[in-house]
Amino acid sequence: GKILGNRYEIVEKIGGGGMALVYKARCRLLNRFVAIKILRSEFINDEEFINKFRRESQAAASLSHPNIVSIYDVGVEDNVYYIVMEYVNGKTLKQYIREQGKLSIEESLDIAIKIAEALSHAHENHIVHRDIKPHNILVTEDGRVKVTDFGIARAATASTVTNTSNVIGSVHYFSPEQARGGYTDEKSDIYSLGVVMYEMVTGRVPFQGDSPISVALKHIQEDIEPPSYFDSSISKSIESIIMKCVQKDQSLRYGNIELLLSDLKKVRDREEIDIEDNTIF
Ligand code: ATP
Ligand code: MG
Ligand code: MG
Repeated sequence: GKILGNRYEIVEKIGGGGMALVYKARCRLLNRFVAIKILRSEFINDEEFINKFRRESQAAASLSHPNIVSIYDVGVEDNVYYIVMEYVNGKTLKQYIREQGKLSIEESLDIAIKIAEALSHAHENHIVHRDIKPHNILVTEDGRVKVTDFGIARAATASTVTNTSNVIGSVHYFSPEQARGGYTDEKSDIYSLGVVMYEMVTGRVPFQGDSPISVALKHIQEDIEPPSYFDSSISKSIESIIMKCVQKDQSLRYGNIELLLSDLKKVRDREEIDIEDNTIF
């Protein structure tokens, strides 16, 4: 296969998104597998994308957590921009949910807690992910969960950042403020994680639509059907947690990821949680 940086031997393609292609590769020096994310060739002359790619690697590299894919190296060679990272031998949470139809409450809670731990570490370091969706969560057979793709992550302190036209996230997981193209902060990640939990327990995203715009509009305007509407066996406690994440009004959502994490752990450990019904629906 092709060699990058005189040390990474490309083995096979393992994924691709809007911005990049991801390959499994072998590091010759350390004799281990790595994943290499390569900026799509149509963007190599686009300074905005190159900067975005650089910011992605810097945001992810500033974090160190068992539930976040580690960054090892970056480089550019013959106009190929690449990020070398930990290789996760698993599948995306999207694939996993599709295969299973939906996940059990126990497994959904376990995965949600691990994603929330990752976000807690990111938020502590003032990084907002902004693209939390099942395609960006990797799960392994032995139950490890890793958040990847900090492609549109931002330092939480950067003010008045607006979404530029080339921000391509999936609208199914967009918070209302993100759908409006407005200011997004940690609470936007909480909304997106709420949608991911919703999808794990029901096997469906809250809104379908003919176009990204119509789905985005629903996140702004339409009420989300409570998960128990689709499956009456879903408990009140997990439902209230999900509904408190996907509140359109940011002030009604969990104030921070720690509060959400604490409620998730209480439900896992079968302790009471304290959410007032009237603030939820
Ligand atoms: P998006 O369109 O969501 O912005 P992207 O172009 O930024 O995507 P990534 O999400 O980073 O690309 O990676 C694309 C896919 O490659 C992932 O959905 C996943 O299937 C796979 N992948 C990414 N990172 C890894 C990794 N470290 N180990 C294994 N597979 C990975
Ligand atoms: Mg992605
Ligand atoms: Mg991305």
